[in-house]
Amino acid sequence: LAKQQVRNTISFFSEELKSAQSEKMELVKDLRNAIANKELYLVYQPILSVRGEVIKFEALIRWQHPKKGLIAPDRFIGLAEEFGQIREIGLWVIQEAKRALRSIQKVHGDNVQVSVNVSPAQLSKYQSENDYLLEELITECHGKSEEASPNKLIVEITEHLLMNSDESTRKALLSFRDEGIQVALDDFGTGYSSLAYIMNYEIDYLKIDKSFVQKLGAESASETLCETIISMAHTLGVKVIAEGVETREQADLLLAYGCDYLQGFYFSKPLTLYNALSYKAVKIS
Ligand code: C2E
Ligand code: MG
Ligand code: MG
Ligand code: MG
Repeated sequence: LAKQQVRNTISFFSEELKSAQSEKMELVKDLRNAIANKELYLVYQPILSVRGEVIKFEALIRWQHPKKGLIAPDRFIGLAEEFGQIREIGLWVIQEAKRALRSIQKVHGDNVQVSVNVSPAQLSKYQSENDYLLEELITECHGKSEEASPNKLIVEITEHLLMNSDESTRKALLSFRDEGIQVALDDFGTGYSSLAYIMNYEIDYLKIDKSFVQKLGAESASETLCETIISMAHTLGVKVIAEGVETREQADLLLAYGCDYLQGFYFSKPLTLYNALSYKAVKIS
């Protein structure tokens, strides 16, 4: 009996694995046509200054799959990286974000910025034959002179990228800055959270990961962490964005710690471009 059970369990697992695998390959295949079929789009989440002004929008990708419905980035960005599609998708994101930036600036003012997430795979292979990746990315950010100026674009990279990065990653990030493109360190606090990163890489913004923001008011360790990150960043001349702010209490604590910008469902979920254009900020302090 035991033997039979083991056998059943094994075949159950391999069936599961097989279907997970074929589901995955199906997504990879469908992703190949997603841009051409106009199934990808960006949503924009407002980032507010402490004075309650809309100051930036973060562009976040969505995939409206014809059969499977709406697919979140956590389900397909990793696949795009693994199967060599991130370069094309990443360039599309920047083109689209720049287009949006122009309409956003017409409504919300010339100082409003748009940030885009750049995947480590778009930068870390910045070496020898992959040199062009970064060049291409920067050219894409720049665009033509009649377009919105690149200094209104922010590139968000995850803290994890820097943990096993080499000299080429450092060069890549510095060349963004040389081109007037600002850099934000995303998901800060989930990696080594080292001061050295900020000093070596000349980061413009730190984004405190939402897992810490969401524990504010409930867990004193998170309070200490947020407060420390903010004062440490300020010492280095880096501005701080808190992401994942869901309650008034979290916002109040962050303001008390001197946080510069707030982003989260408490203020707004990510919006379609159309809704982002008519978004009205609330007074927050
Ligand atoms: P991220 O860059 O850290 O983005 C923040 C995520 O938190 C977004 O999820 C956003 O919708 C969500 N969020 C914002 N405020 C709140 C809140 O108050 N509560 C909660 N629970 N969540 C909140 P989303 O859009 O699903 O994106 C997930 C991740 O996918 C992003 O994390 C980013 O790493 C990646 N991603 C999104 N768009 C792109 C893209 O265009 N290119 C690349 N390479 N990665 C992307
Ligand atoms: Mg981000
Ligand atoms: Mg991220
Ligand atoms: Mg984040």
